[in-house]
Amino acid sequence: MDKTVDPCVDFYRYACGTWMKNNPVPPDKSRWGRFDELYENNLYILRDILVQAQTRGQHSASEKMVGDFYGACMDEATIEKKGTTPLAAELQRINAVKTKADLIKVVAYMHQNATPALFAFSPQPDMHDSNATIAFVDQGGITLPDRDYYIQEDAKSVETRQKYLAHVQKMFELAGDTPDVAAAEAKTVLSIETALAQASMDRTQRRDPKTRDHKMTVAEIAATAPNFDLTAYFASNGSPKFSTLNVGNPDFFKQVNSQLESVSLADWKTYLRWRAITSHAQVLTKAFVEEDFEFNGKFMSGQQEMEPRWKRCVKATDQALGMALGQLYVDKTFGPEGKERTLKMVKAIESAMQQDIGQLTWMSDRTKKQAYEKLNAIVNNIGYPDQWRDYSSVVIKSDDYAGNSTRAGAFEVKRQYNKIDKPTDRKDWNMTPPTVNAYYRPPMNDINFPAGILQPPFYGNMMDNAVNYGGIGVVIGHELTHGFDDQGRKYDAQGNFRDWWTPQDGKEFEQRADCTAKEYSNFVAVKDDQGEVKLNGKLTLGENTADNGGLKLAYMALTEIIGNTSVKPIDGFTPQQRFFLAYGQIWCQNVTDQEARKRVLTDPHSPGEWRVNGAVQNSAAFQQAFGCKAGQPMVSANACRVW
Ligand SMILES: [Zn+2]
Repeated sequence: MDKTVDPCVDFYRYACGTWMKNNPVPPDKSRWGRFDELYENNLYILRDILVQAQTRGQHSASEKMVGDFYGACMDEATIEKKGTTPLAAELQRINAVKTKADLIKVVAYMHQNATPALFAFSPQPDMHDSNATIAFVDQGGITLPDRDYYIQEDAKSVETRQKYLAHVQKMFELAGDTPDVAAAEAKTVLSIETALAQASMDRTQRRDPKTRDHKMTVAEIAATAPNFDLTAYFASNGSPKFSTLNVGNPDFFKQVNSQLESVSLADWKTYLRWRAITSHAQVLTKAFVEEDFEFNGKFMSGQQEMEPRWKRCVKATDQALGMALGQLYVDKTFGPEGKERTLKMVKAIESAMQQDIGQLTWMSDRTKKQAYEKLNAIVNNIGYPDQWRDYSSVVIKSDDYAGNSTRAGAFEVKRQYNKIDKPTDRKDWNMTPPTVNAYYRPPMNDINFPAGILQPPFYGNMMDNAVNYGGIGVVIGHELTHGFDDQGRKYDAQGNFRDWWTPQDGKEFEQRADCTAKEYSNFVAVKDDQGEVKLNGKLTLGENTADNGGLKLAYMALTEIIGNTSVKPIDGFTPQQRFFLAYGQIWCQNVTDQEARKRVLTDPHSPGEWRVNGAVQNSAAFQQAFGCKAGQPMVSANACRVW
């Protein structure tokens, strides 16, 4: 805390000021906050598990597998010796393409091996029948983190494209091309990706599920974009045969269809070679890893140095075999009592939401009935999945990092493809257990809290209710509120995209959401020598709605527990004050200007400062707890409230 700051003037600095002063962004990071601290701590625990798994003695099959994966990643000498050999097969396949008809088959092959290119293919619950999972094709194929980087004309975007060109050229050189050839190839890549970006819908628009809802037959989409030859793609990508699918952005396929004809075969091959090289950069030699870091780490994110190898290898293991490593992590760190206590808090916060909906003056009883139904149907997943994933078919060798990584990637792609035209698997998790995060899935109508987040500062057995409710309690309330934010409210209790609101209630909701969108659009996300950038209130609307709602619901639940009993202050703070301090302090963070700029374009979450100050400005309970007066910065004159 920085007690020299008035909590009613800048609560974020009051709660986090000293932490921020004492915890600058470490040179191997682009952002450093309480979430990152905790994840860093998890990395050490995971490393112990992985090192232990490599020692002599008895080990389970899972231990052996993750140990070998980690060991192969750490074995830099072998990786150097192999040079670009691990890329050879994929590049050869691309080089061998003789016709545009063959091009799509190589894309299918690349997708099967987890190399993204041209467009995206995955399973997805049917938007109108969430119990069935169907195939889904969507826009994709760009390398920079957002379409805007290719399209915007501001100085920063122009600079980014120049740096990107130089980076692509260097990577082609590392792959064996002469500087002249590589320079021309880089221009080709940028021009093709710019066309893909121009055909892509922007992130903010895509928040509305309506923009992504286009169920078609295979024949229909194939006819819309004949040059893609999607029929040949579906037949050769290793997915089960299907006849209908959802198309995320049909216009993308229509627009790129003409590019497939006008751009030469040689240029398309250059683009695919680039996608293969950049996707493999992290599993290749030091030269590739370093060049990849120079652009993506240093230039794009402001990271000064690379993370030590072991951290990158722990993360790579978590990404490739996360449920096997996660099982070992859970055995070591997470007992059944953690699950039980969290569930109790979830129930308390769900009942606060029930009460909150009941008290809304702007919502009709008809819509409330549907809202209750949705709330009561939410499934709570805590800690880790009921059933662990079986990786036994993945071949992991102790001396083949790139091969391991490709085989694990291909295993996951196959696992995903196998969901197509089957009943939706609602038990499958999107995050691995050590992850310090949580999520809500509209089509599943479930909230999920991996074991990684169920520890201090979010949650502690030794901490009192005020602190736990201000920490993990608000996170629970946040995820619940996602079921009712600008996106979530458009799905019903079963997870179907269906309007269950009366028109008047829908209008009332939109008015309140609009207030929040405008409010956050005024907040400055980054101010550096390249100018000032404000938040995109529409892109961050769902998260800001969830922050405000979560804070309110967790506070209601805490009040219910404390009741009229007088709880003694601790360290001079009332339970109410400690609740808000705990909330403020989970968001303490420092971030590089580069990372902050990237996030304004790509991250639906607001930066820590506004997750805290934005939410408390709208909270009468906060203002009461700290005795803030009208006119002070932490008292919004026009407080927005959705939930
Ligand atoms: Zn969220």
